[in-house]
Amino acid sequence: MEDIRSDGETLLSRLEGNSCPQCTAGTLERGTYKDNVAVVCPACETPQVQLWDVGSH
Ligand SMILES: [Zn+2]
Repeated sequence: MEDIRSDGETLLSRLEGNSCPQCTAGTLERGTYKDNVAVVCPACETPQVQLWDVGSH
């Protein structure tokens, strides 16, 4: 079983600050999407990564 929490943190850190692959106009930021921790593009509001069950324990 994968440890999504630690892997997810690494993934978020890695993606944060990257150009958005969807619209190429935005820069990915850490935020929330539907109450999940996510990396989202503020320009097109597309979540690139979502983590479930993070910070709820
Ligand atoms: Zn975008």
